[in-house]
Amino acid sequence: MSYHSGFVALIGKPNVGKSTLLNTILSKKVAIATPKPQTTRDNIRGILTLDDCQIVFIDTPGIHKASIRLNELMVKSAYEAAGDVDIILMLISAEKGIEKSDRIIMESLKNYRKPKFLVVNKIDKLNKSELIEFMQGIDTDMFDEIIPLSALKNNNVSELIETIRRYLPEDLQYYPSDMISDYPESFMISEIIREKIMMFTNQEIPHSVAVYLEQMEERKNVVYINATIVTEKDSQKAIIIGKNGQMLKRIASFAREELQERLGKKVFLEVFVKVEEDWRNKRSQLMQLGYLDSDRNE
Ligand code: GDP
Ligand code: MG
Repeated sequence: MSYHSGFVALIGKPNVGKSTLLNTILSKKVAIATPKPQTTRDNIRGILTLDDCQIVFIDTPGIHKASIRLNELMVKSAYEAAGDVDIILMLISAEKGIEKSDRIIMESLKNYRKPKFLVVNKIDKLNKSELIEFMQGIDTDMFDEIIPLSALKNNNVSELIETIRRYLPEDLQYYPSDMISDYPESFMISEIIREKIMMFTNQEIPHSVAVYLEQMEERKNVVYINATIVTEKDSQKAIIIGKNGQMLKRIASFAREELQERLGKKVFLEVFVKVEEDWRNKRSQLMQLGYLDSDRNE
């Protein structure tokens, strides 16, 4: 039996459900997903291994107008991913319809000579006749396949996998069968903490926060985790800590609960908040956080 494998990029504006789709496909959380745009910052690799094929998905940060340095890097990494893969999945939301920002992305994808699928996500938001009407309104020329699905409800996701399988080149298995992400567990742990910050705080906070794991060690079946939340301003630090420390307590308690479930062990979580002015524009910090390759010349 011949083996097929390849790389697939998930491309689309923020909030169309790229991370949710990846998590559904892998039936495990490898990327954090929240109702807020720009939750995903890095290209995250999720690996699906089946009997006759291996699909490596690259979940990209949503493509949007780049404003400051971190956002620029996020957009750049999305288009870079599109260049490196075998198949491009462009996601749109059936709920929102095709918007101008979707069309801009579609235009730039036309330059890539490789199979492109249009994934129409969130079909659970439409009834049958609305969906038919929506599908008929799509200009299908540039896409090799159009697949409507609901990532959240796991509806028609298997159809997508089947279709990808048919387009994959014959190749060796890249990763071991039991590997579902090429990110270390420590990355997911800091991401889970960042997800709780994004869930509970207001608009101005999410995009200016980073989380580092300072320490993680296991003693007598208890995992001790020490993390630092970095913000840009004192005012943001104050919001994250909250009145009498209530907000930070809430963030830490929800994060701890999820981490306990994930690790299957009791977790002791300590979180500190500190201010580093303008961290998003600081190269060295971006590098330390893994947003830049130290050996790559920008
Ligand atoms: P991303 O920015 O493209 O990675 O989007 P996310 O995966 O973070 O999802 C953004 C929001 O859309 C989250 O609140 C998801 O729960 C929601 N979402 C994702 N897929 C679906 C879907 O199929 N149906 C519905 N109703 N909501 C979805
Ligand atoms: Mg995402």
